[in-house]
Amino acid sequence: MCRTAACWVGLLAAVAVVLSPAKAYYHFVHYSGPPPYSPVYEKFDLRALPDGAVPYFISGNGPIALAAGDSLASVVSQIRLAASTWNEVKTSQLRLAFGGFRNVESAAGTAPHIDVVFDEIPPGLIALGGPTTRGDLTAAESGGFVPILRSVVVLNRDLSAQRSASEGFFLTLVHEFGHALGLQHTLTSSVMSTSITRATSRARPLAEDDVAAISLLYPPPRFRETTAMIAGRVTLAGAGVNLASVVAISPQGVAVSALTNPDGTYLIAGLPPGSYYVYAHPLPPPLFGEVTPANIVLPRGPGGDPILPGPLFETEFYPGAKSVEAARAVVVQAGDILSGIDFAVRRRASLDLYAVSSYSFPANVAVSQAFLNRFGPRRFLVLSGVGLSTGTAPTPGLSVSVMGGSAVVPPGGVLPYGPDPRYVQLNLEFHPFSGTGPRHLLFSLNNDIHVRPSGLHLVGSAPPAITGLAPVAGPEGRTAVAVSGQNLRRNTRILFDGVPATVLASDDNGVLLVEPPAAPSRHRATVVALNEDGQSSWYMHGADSPVYEHPAKEPPSFMLSRPGLPAGSEAMIEIIGTNTQFRPGLTELAFGSSDLAVRGVWVLGPNRLWANVRVGPQASGRAAVTLVDGLEVVASPVPFEILPPNGSRITLVPPVVDVASGREGGYAGGAVAVRVIGLPANTTAAGLTVTVNEEPAAVRSLDGDRLVFELPAGLALGAALVRVRTVQSDSYPIAFSVRRAPPMIVSVRGAGEQPIGPNRPARLGEALVIRLTRLGEAAEAVAADRVTVEVAGVRHPAQQIVPVSGRTDEYEILFLLGLAVPTGEAVPLVVLVDGRESLPAQIPIVP
Ligand SMILES: [Zn+2]
Repeated sequence: MCRTAACWVGLLAAVAVVLSPAKAYYHFVHYSGPPPYSPVYEKFDLRALPDGAVPYFISGNGPIALAAGDSLASVVSQIRLAASTWNEVKTSQLRLAFGGFRNVESAAGTAPHIDVVFDEIPPGLIALGGPTTRGDLTAAESGGFVPILRSVVVLNRDLSAQRSASEGFFLTLVHEFGHALGLQHTLTSSVMSTSITRATSRARPLAEDDVAAISLLYPPPRFRETTAMIAGRVTLAGAGVNLASVVAISPQGVAVSALTNPDGTYLIAGLPPGSYYVYAHPLPPPLFGEVTPANIVLPRGPGGDPILPGPLFETEFYPGAKSVEAARAVVVQAGDILSGIDFAVRRRASLDLYAVSSYSFPANVAVSQAFLNRFGPRRFLVLSGVGLSTGTAPTPGLSVSVMGGSAVVPPGGVLPYGPDPRYVQLNLEFHPFSGTGPRHLLFSLNNDIHVRPSGLHLVGSAPPAITGLAPVAGPEGRTAVAVSGQNLRRNTRILFDGVPATVLASDDNGVLLVEPPAAPSRHRATVVALNEDGQSSWYMHGADSPVYEHPAKEPPSFMLSRPGLPAGSEAMIEIIGTNTQFRPGLTELAFGSSDLAVRGVWVLGPNRLWANVRVGPQASGRAAVTLVDGLEVVASPVPFEILPPNGSRITLVPPVVDVASGREGGYAGGAVAVRVIGLPANTTAAGLTVTVNEEPAAVRSLDGDRLVFELPAGLALGAALVRVRTVQSDSYPIAFSVRRAPPMIVSVRGAGEQPIGPNRPARLGEALVIRLTRLGEAAEAVAADRVTVEVAGVRHPAQQIVPVSGRTDEYEILFLLGLAVPTGEAVPLVVLVDGRESLPAQIPIVP
């Protein structure tokens, strides 16, 4: 643990070694044995974390210098938003949870976590990130891995060089969190590429390569069945090439890659199904300031030694092609593994062209995502890169094209860039049906090719621009802002120091009425508009982006219903605020220690909320409590005390789940289950008293530590508290959600009105009628497109939904049973109405 300045210097020296400032998705790799090689990755062990969430902490010792017009509130906001970007990947189970602020002196806790600190780092860099403490090789069903116990994201403590509201600052943070989670550099212009080739934007921070990389480390169930794989080997004169980058690329934009193992084998996994060209290229030589090619931390062999990359070679498209025209596309379906996509490459003494940056100029700011408006006046890119130009002209013999033909370089279209002829100007003409989205640049020079994925982004309009911010009266006495400008659309997002404002009204006349996020009194926030095509108003205004000053207000504060809790406990803590505006889904609570976790928050009003808090068994000392909403951070003046464990207390472990669906929460009259630990030996269900909101609840069963009880019939919707008692002891209350009762399937019928059952199974392809009750629509018409029927997970659209005449709240749904549904004696069927799921029914299905 670091308690002195010298120790921090030592830690940072260690960080610098591990995080040599730094490109195919790539992980931190170890090889545990001899060939055939199977890579062992470094990653967080989600099983070791409460609710599987990795907490991150922001150092209380903030930056020493900020850029003009910047604020600490904005820096903290950008850090939290960058972290939450990784939570938005639907195919990854990884979740990052804001753990609060902590000082160097305070204990970080014993559970795996990420520390965000401000310190000195090499000039020119904004931040560094990566794992710093690892555990021993751990076995898992999916193969072994090296658990990350701690990672750091180190921001430069002097942040005067870049505004935190800029695209670059935010994307760097997303990149460094990616390192902290176990990702290395890639060469596919994703957020995990270095800033030279990174081509993602604030509006769309992650590329397909990033999504595949994080999903492979933290896969959900059935991830392999929903994505595809391509496998093969890269050889040179018969020998495997280590660390060759192999890329599956679609002209429509997707690029996903992998690096080869020491024997030249590779596996590109997590690929969206589709048609791809596949190419292999060598890692480029280290650039100035890089330690290894693409600054990749080299994989380590069984003895712990780094395994060096193989020799340089000519880039090749599959199968053995020197151009994309001569290449053959491969098609992969979900669940497929396409193997034998091999490359026998030719050695090359040197690489003549690499590290190509690409910029466009939608206004006065150079944009490295290279957005090009097909209808705009500036239809050119400006390129720089090693080998691209010689002196003040493009290198003789250089030719450039766009993959897929959606844009064409006219004759004479590769020329010196007027304002600075060391750069290359690339003129483009667009095909009328060229579409929009990322497109890839293809370079050829000296009998070699170079691919720059996402070298341009085709769009159909200029970026949004903000010309006016006018405060107006908003809901419940709060202030709203009318945002006016150009290219503002109904679905434009308006950010205040990165935090999306709530859109109250929008039209297509370029005015959006928004409610700004919570912020400190008179806080000055930089306002940015993001369009769905990926463009930002930052491209128009840059550092001159408009600023909104929040109204003056009384400082908020809050109190906790409990001054502390014993180690090893779970309890609801009530928070009462003064001058607060608690909002569901926006207000968060954090304790500054990985030993304390907030499992759920229920906002009961602007000044009152409930939080389920877990105090880990190893916890000790005091914790710093903070409430966060938008740009506002409120610290409690009183620390939260962690008391010695209380062995005689019963503990309820959230979540409370609905027995029938397994979903969190319950409904009045329904049965729910919760884990209960610390019960005296031989406790039976009869010996327990369960109360919900202090009303008795009927206990159904106690099986091991699983307690099942019924929620009282009159229970109101919203948050409720449950508590358990025995004669000797009781539990702290924990909170849970009370929802509307789910719709219920009364019957399923086939043709001829016969009910489906053991004697009359459903047949594949047959029309079925479901009778459903408790929809709560009061006999109003329900549109069929709101209803989906799921049979064994296979979704079916409803053909028709009609109220049953003479019955209140009963409907009949007609649908056609698909041919791809599994058969069996009890196949689960559920109905979803606006995503609200019915209780499941089981039906027999025969072919
Ligand atoms: Zn990096």
